[in-house]
Amino acid sequence: MPELRVRRYLHAAGVRFRLHKRDLPGCPDIVLSGSRQVVFVHGCFWHSHNCRWGRVEPKTHAEYWRTKREGVVKRDKRAAVALEERGWTVHVIWECWTRDDVTLGEHLADVVRKARQELPSDHRTGTRAMVEDSERLVERPHGIGG
Ligand SMILES: [Zn+2]
Repeated sequence: MPELRVRRYLHAAGVRFRLHKRDLPGCPDIVLSGSRQVVFVHGCFWHSHNCRWGRVEPKTHAEYWRTKREGVVKRDKRAAVALEERGWTVHVIWECWTRDDVTLGEHLADVVRKARQELPSDHRTGTRAMVEDSERLVERPHGIGG
C-alpha cells in the first residue's frame, strides 16, 4: 500500500507526523504540524499522474472515467490552494514513486529536511534525539499554529 510505504519511510527517517486530519482541506494523508507540511499520497490513475499508469484511458465508459478523474484533479487543486492559503506546504507523492525506497527517498528529501529544520538539533545528532525532540513538540499543550 503506497501510503504505508511513505509512512514507514518517514518514520525510519525520524520524522513525526499525524494521519488524515479531517479539519484540513482535502483531508491530507500525512500531516507534519511542526513544520507545517502536508503530504498527499496519490494513486496515479485516479489523480491523473503524468506517467504510464496515470495516462491510461479506459476504453469502455471512457467519458464516465474522464469526468470522474477530472473531478478528482479539480478537488486536489482546490484543496492545495486552500492549504497553501493557510500557510501549509503541500507535497504530492505519487504511487509510482513508492515502488522503491531510493526513488521515494528522493521525493521525500524536501519533506524530511524541512521537518528536521524545525527541530532544535544544534547540539544533538542522530535519529533518536530527533524523535525525542519531535515528540516533545507534539506534546505541547496547545499545539502549534492552532
Ligand atoms: Zn505515476
